[in-house]
Amino acid sequence: MTKETGWNLDNSYANLSETFFSKIEPSPVNAPEFVIFNEPLAKSLGLNIEELENDEGLATLAGNSVPEGSDPIAQAYAGHQFGHFTMLGDGRALMLGEQITPEGERVDIQLKGSGRTPYSRGGDGRAVLGPMLREYIMSEAMYALGIPTNRSLSVVTTGEDVIRETNLPGAVLTRTASSHLRVGTFQYAARWGTVDELKELADYTIERHFPDIKKAQHPYLALLQEVIKRQAKMIAKWQHVGFIHGVMNTDNMTISGETIDYGPCAFMDTYDPKTVFSSIDREGRYAYENQPPIAGWNLARFAESLLPLIHEDIDEAVKIAQDEISKFTPLYKEQWFSGMRAKLGLFNEEANDESLIDRLLGMMQKSNADYTNTFRLLTMENPSETDLYGKEGFDEWYDEWQKRLNEQEQSKEDAHELMRNNNPAVIPRNHRVEEALQAAVEEEDYSVMEHLLDVLSNPYAYSPEQEEYCTLPENTGVPYRTYCGT
Ligand code: AMP
Ligand code: MG
Ligand code: MG
Repeated sequence: MTKETGWNLDNSYANLSETFFSKIEPSPVNAPEFVIFNEPLAKSLGLNIEELENDEGLATLAGNSVPEGSDPIAQAYAGHQFGHFTMLGDGRALMLGEQITPEGERVDIQLKGSGRTPYSRGGDGRAVLGPMLREYIMSEAMYALGIPTNRSLSVVTTGEDVIRETNLPGAVLTRTASSHLRVGTFQYAARWGTVDELKELADYTIERHFPDIKKAQHPYLALLQEVIKRQAKMIAKWQHVGFIHGVMNTDNMTISGETIDYGPCAFMDTYDPKTVFSSIDREGRYAYENQPPIAGWNLARFAESLLPLIHEDIDEAVKIAQDEISKFTPLYKEQWFSGMRAKLGLFNEEANDESLIDRLLGMMQKSNADYTNTFRLLTMENPSETDLYGKEGFDEWYDEWQKRLNEQEQSKEDAHELMRNNNPAVIPRNHRVEEALQAAVEEEDYSVMEHLLDVLSNPYAYSPEQEEYCTLPENTGVPYRTYCGT
């Protein structure tokens, strides 16, 4: 370990067969400068904040020097992008290594925007400040919401312009993840690797994420089952807070069940299951309501990749895999219902709960109600402030819900607390995120973003200072759009 900075890097992924990565050095940048640095995260990684915030630390986080113990690589992977299979890989990202934290956890440290790699194809390997700050805000907000996600350690500007439609300020984002193993990594191994390499990848994954299943009678089948469980949990949590990922390609679906790739994501304001923000998702493949079935589709691609390890007889393997995949939907639904009951303060499960939830969502859709604020105001026992007040069926629904709350064993206070812990008061609303990015990029005023990050770091606080972050954007008549690939 490097005493001064606290880097304690291991490179287990770089010890896999060479087919899985390319060794690569970051491309230096002109004049790096810190824009934001995540001190609590740095601390939890065992990094020395004072040392990292000096020139040496800055050089590392800009890709101008490689820390001791690092064996930098770009990872190879493939993936289905909007349903079309293709070779991909880290085209503008580079893994410095795996930081072993004081807690003994293994965390990938990855630079994004650090220059070209053998997987860059036509791209320049660079990233733009605005989108990197956006990723920082969104991923840290997700973390605070209690949703499994990769995290952001820092954003540094490069002092270089990046050429897009116009010249834009370049930046390097450093992120952390429990790993960057993806469905697409397995697809890559299945398509271009040998069965031995596929097995090597599966064994590595089991060792790293699911060591308990080594003892299972059939570890590779258990791997499939575990990944299905993690994905079902993650997607249910997205749905609970109205998060729309926007680019659920198989290369963006992790094996760990962490959310990655924050390019075109956004949170829904008005409840509409058909909501899409991404400018390139013209057919709504990744719309809010499609996220669960798409996750199932992606998992089927994962299962396909594992077939040679599941059974030597291919027909038998397919049968077994299909059987497992069919468990995703009920698993997801169970997770979804349990979270939705918690959002309504319900501790146990009763026959009418499904109808209670469905009717509420139905009214929200019909009234164009704000998703987050409706639950927030119900939590604050302020039904008359919701967009549903006075609407057809709301009184009856509300009375029925109150009756249901009164009849459960737990006290109203306990129910209230359950709701508070499951209904965020604040989410990164699009207009707030845009406002913060605009101040940062156009005026080099980072205070708007810092305040936003502060409020988002405790989304269940219901503190008075959060009130102003609950207001909706003005209706401009122009739908909000997000972009990826910048
Ligand atoms: P994404 O849509 O972010 O999942 O990226 C899809 C693929 O494009 C990945 O292989 C990226 O590494 C690659 N890519 C995106 N932007 C660039 C860029 N500026 N230079 C090189 N590769 C890129
Ligand atoms: Mg990606
Ligand atoms: Mg991306």
